[in-house]
Amino acid sequence: MDAEEFRRNGHAVIDWIADYWASLERRPVLSLDQPGAVAGRLPSAAPERGEDFDRILADLDAVVMPGVTHWQHPGFFGYFPANVSGPSVLGDLVSSGLGVQGMLWATGPACTEVETVMLDWLADLLDLPARFRSSGTGGGVIQDSASSATLVATLAALHRASKGRWRGDGVEGRYTVYTSTQGHSSIEKAARIAGIGDGNVRPVEVDDRTLAMDPAALRSMLEADIAAGARPALVVATIGTTSTTAVDPIPAIGAICREYGVWLHVDAAYAGASAVCPELRWTHAGLEYADSYCFDPHKWLLTGFDCDAFWVADRAELVEALTVLPEYLRNAASESGAVLDYRDWQVPLGRRFRALKLWFVLRWYGAEGLREHIRGGVEMAAGFAGRVRADDRFEVVAPHPFSLVCFRLRDADGVDGDAASAALLARVNAGGRIYLTHTRVRGAYALRLAVGAPQTRASHVEEAWRLISAEATAVLAG
Ligand code: PLP
Repeated sequence: MDAEEFRRNGHAVIDWIADYWASLERRPVLSLDQPGAVAGRLPSAAPERGEDFDRILADLDAVVMPGVTHWQHPGFFGYFPANVSGPSVLGDLVSSGLGVQGMLWATGPACTEVETVMLDWLADLLDLPARFRSSGTGGGVIQDSASSATLVATLAALHRASKGRWRGDGVEGRYTVYTSTQGHSSIEKAARIAGIGDGNVRPVEVDDRTLAMDPAALRSMLEADIAAGARPALVVATIGTTSTTAVDPIPAIGAICREYGVWLHVDAAYAGASAVCPELRWTHAGLEYADSYCFDPHKWLLTGFDCDAFWVADRAELVEALTVLPEYLRNAASESGAVLDYRDWQVPLGRRFRALKLWFVLRWYGAEGLREHIRGGVEMAAGFAGRVRADDRFEVVAPHPFSLVCFRLRDADGVDGDAASAALLARVNAGGRIYLTHTRVRGAYALRLAVGAPQTRASHVEEAWRLISAEATAVLAG
């Protein structure tokens, strides 16, 4: 593809995306394809001869689109949002066009330095503690996901807990990791990959009302495990748990971690974005105790997947844990000590110029635009929760400080709330206008409505409530 062909086809692709976004509301949120349908529309082998770009683009509509779940649809309320936006796509496009591989400062100075500054900008926007800034001992880096952030935090924690021996000798003895019963599954996965074993991830009880970690339970578990010969390496506290967005009490947890010398990682994958709003920063109190912290701009901050922002308070500890330096990567800049080499902050060696999309997003929206996006989501969710509360067939089953509301049909005479709520979810999702997912809260089946898709407006949330209410009537009528 020469430059002129690229220009022409590139314009067509941008038009295609713009048309797609404009058409979202008219599409069913979920794909109606059965398993194997997309694969069945693809030829069984790659073409022998190159094809026209027009045909490739046409097949996007014919082959791919029927199998797409529309995460950007204004009626998408499932899981957590996975926002994307114009500036994010365009920043990513530039990154693809540059094709920079920024494993070392020397292989792409701008790739490294724009990222360092963007993570400092973000730290300012969220008002994170000064120790996470690159001007001090800390610094931020983009990981592909919150799961990878938890993995590298786990490795750094092992390095610290073993006093550096883990690097050479591997895991010796029993190291333990603590998170609440509501902690994300990536914590177990990280422990498994790190060789700690997911059996050594200790689930800490939560407060029954808030579903947030009980610090007294954490202390008792640490004491019992130490007495039994275990070596506590890591506590993962969560701001905004996956099921219900519970907020763990970081000040109390942090003080305990400091007392026992345990690494504290704070996982704010979804809810961290809310800290751009000063009125929501109470959720981040106590973060000065954290050794590392992450959130996903790719969830709720208008930045396309993949973009997890991860900070450490002491970058030397992380780099010491992960660095391996073969001859072919040696270079004068690294040896000068004047640059950051992000290869030492992550699992892969290579890395893309992901900071460009953040730069585009932060400049296009500005802090004000980002706050507006977050506040809109929180307000719409609160409005929805009000609707649910006002209808005595339903109950809201957990606090909703952000933009997720967990609710269910109540148990009543002749009504099994679990079965009725599951039936309600199935009916609502089958309609194609909206999409919600579910969880269990205190053992009971609950629906989750997560607001946050960029095109979602109050009218869409109102429509969601109307549909849910009407389907509830049908379910309860049997
Ligand atoms: N942590 C929490 C609290 C989450 O809610 C999620 C995903 O929803 C994750 C971690 C994993 O995020 P990622 O897909 O970025 O690995």
